[in-house]
Amino acid sequence: MGKTVLIVEDERAIVEIVKFNLQREGYETMEALDGETGLELAKTGDPDLVLLDVMLPKMNGFEVCTAIRASGSAVPVIMLTAREEESDKVFGLEAGADDYITKPFSMRELLARVKANIRRRAMDAGTRAAGENLLQQGALTVDLQSVSVKKNGVSIEVTQKEFDLLTCLLTNPGKVFTREELMTKVWNYDYFGDMRTVDVTVRRLREKIEDDPGEPKYIRTKRGAGYYCEVEN
Ligand code: CA
Repeated sequence: MGKTVLIVEDERAIVEIVKFNLQREGYETMEALDGETGLELAKTGDPDLVLLDVMLPKMNGFEVCTAIRASGSAVPVIMLTAREEESDKVFGLEAGADDYITKPFSMRELLARVKANIRRRAMDAGTRAAGENLLQQGALTVDLQSVSVKKNGVSIEVTQKEFDLLTCLLTNPGKVFTREELMTKVWNYDYFGDMRTVDVTVRRLREKIEDDPGEPKYIRTKRGAGYYCEVEN
């Protein structure tokens, strides 16, 4: 069955061209022309991915993304941001988006991002052998099968990229990853990328999993080098 992409965008011309191209690639689509409708469809329509514009009537894209995450959904969200507004990228990630594309974007780039974000999720959810499903680190348990994180048995809501980042570090304990490496591994960017994306995602993740985000135990910073997870004794 085809994967479903929810397009939340108030410019009809963009909706139509994106819809046309996604359908040609075999995706099913749902559309919303304002933020409220977009949020409703994200909750009830069970999309596999959400393309979310920032400037929208009724609710803006940041508010919609925040509300999607507040509802407990980990659906991959790609924000569509204006090229001039660098801060939009950071706001979007703060709101729980997984990725962003700056307007004007090429259809080829958009399709590549959609594919990468959906495939990543499917890989996480589907292809692990039994017994390989749980990662343990201190009080943290990461379930690769159900794509979920628990601390002392209590569920922690994380986005797809937060999950991917955590999994990447936990499966390579002691290895220091540079921001560039994390960009490539977690965001599939081998061509460009804003390194703040990595820092913002690490900060958000620390706020969720660390006892004291200022003194992180799980995701450590190697000054001038990158991030790593301590080898457990
Ligand atoms: Ca707009």
